[in-house]
This record gives sequence, C-alpha cells and structure tokens, in this order.
Amino acid sequence: MALPNDYTGQACSLARALEITGERWTLLIIRDAFWGVRRFADFTDHLQIPRAVLASRLKTLTAAGVLTRVPGERHLEYQLTAKGTALWPAILSLMSWGDDFYAPAGPRRLFQHATDSGQIDPAGRCGTCGTTVPAADTIITPGPGLEPPADDASWVTTALTTPHQLLEPLRAATAPPAPRPAMLPVRGRGQHPQAVEG
Ligand SMILES: [Zn+2]
Repeated sequence: MALPNDYTGQACSLARALEITGERWTLLIIRDAFWGVRRFADFTDHLQIPRAVLASRLKTLTAAGVLTRVPGERHLEYQLTAKGTALWPAILSLMSWGDDFYAPAGPRRLFQHATDSGQIDPAGRCGTCGTTVPAADTIITPGPGLEPPADDASWVTTALTTPHQLLEPLRAATAPPAPRPAMLPVRGRGQHPQAVEG
C-alpha cells in the first residue's frame, strides 16, 4: 500500500508544521534564507537543487506565508516573513542536534549575539547576557568543523567563511573570488553585474 504523501487528518501541530516544512530541501531553503540568500539563482547555486524542485518549494513556502517576494535589483527576491523568521529556534535546535550526533569535527557554524559577541547556545540563549537572541541579532561565524571552500564552491559558501548577520542579504560583492561568468554584465540589456551590488 502506498504511503500518503501528506499528513491530512493529523490534528497535531507538529504534523501541521511538517505539512509546510517537512518536504525534502525545504528546511535547507529556509536555512539559506536565514543566512541571507535571496535570489532563485543563488539558492540553486548554493544548494545544487534542481530548479523545478526549488520553484515548487518556494511556491509552497510563499503560499504559506513563510517567504514573501520582494523587489531586488534585477529580479524578485525571497525574504522570510515574521512567520518564517519564527522558525529560527527550530532551525537552531535541529542544527545543534546534528552537531551533537553527526559532526565529529565539531560544528560548522557558530552563532554570536551581535550586541555583545556572546556565544549563543543550542537553546538560543546568549552566554554573556543570558537573553534569548532573535535571529536578527545573531551573527553566524565559522565553526571548527567548517572545511575550506572547494575551488568550485558557490560564492555563498565562500561568503559564509566570514561572519555575517542573519537575515541581512548576502551579496556576491562580499565574496572575494573573481566574478563568475553568470555575473558579468550582458551588453545592450542595461543589466548590472551582480558583483557591484551590496
Ligand atoms: Zn548577549
């Protein structure tokens, strides 16, 4: 008997939440949105996700009010709503669980409170001031388990080797490598290279 592909009929709030967030790739897309990824092309570049799958997931997340589309310099971009940002404790907690059981080299990402540089624990509390830190006041920094980016790594991967404030848009200009071909200006169309943004 085939398994149903949703949790229709399940009243539990966890089942309801998984209806939105539980598909393959979805939480990684949400994670990238916290990191500051906003453009369709940058999600595909960083996640190596099939375009059709990404389009489907973004449609679901936008319809659910987790993401909203906002004007970018050239295209619409995807931004977490307040409802989406409210998923931060769940992302942090799941990532910490992965660190505990599946990260023998240590965490790849660490988090600091922007105002006092205190280390944020898996429950989201700052070790310096003791407050529960919202995503917007959180700095992502490289952890001991973060390997150096490969030569062909996405610019997003490279950009995240330096501290970055969550939810602030990541821009290609913050990444040191030379522009990739896709970022070169297209003659005659009045487009700007992404490399000069931000
Ligand atoms: Zn603090």
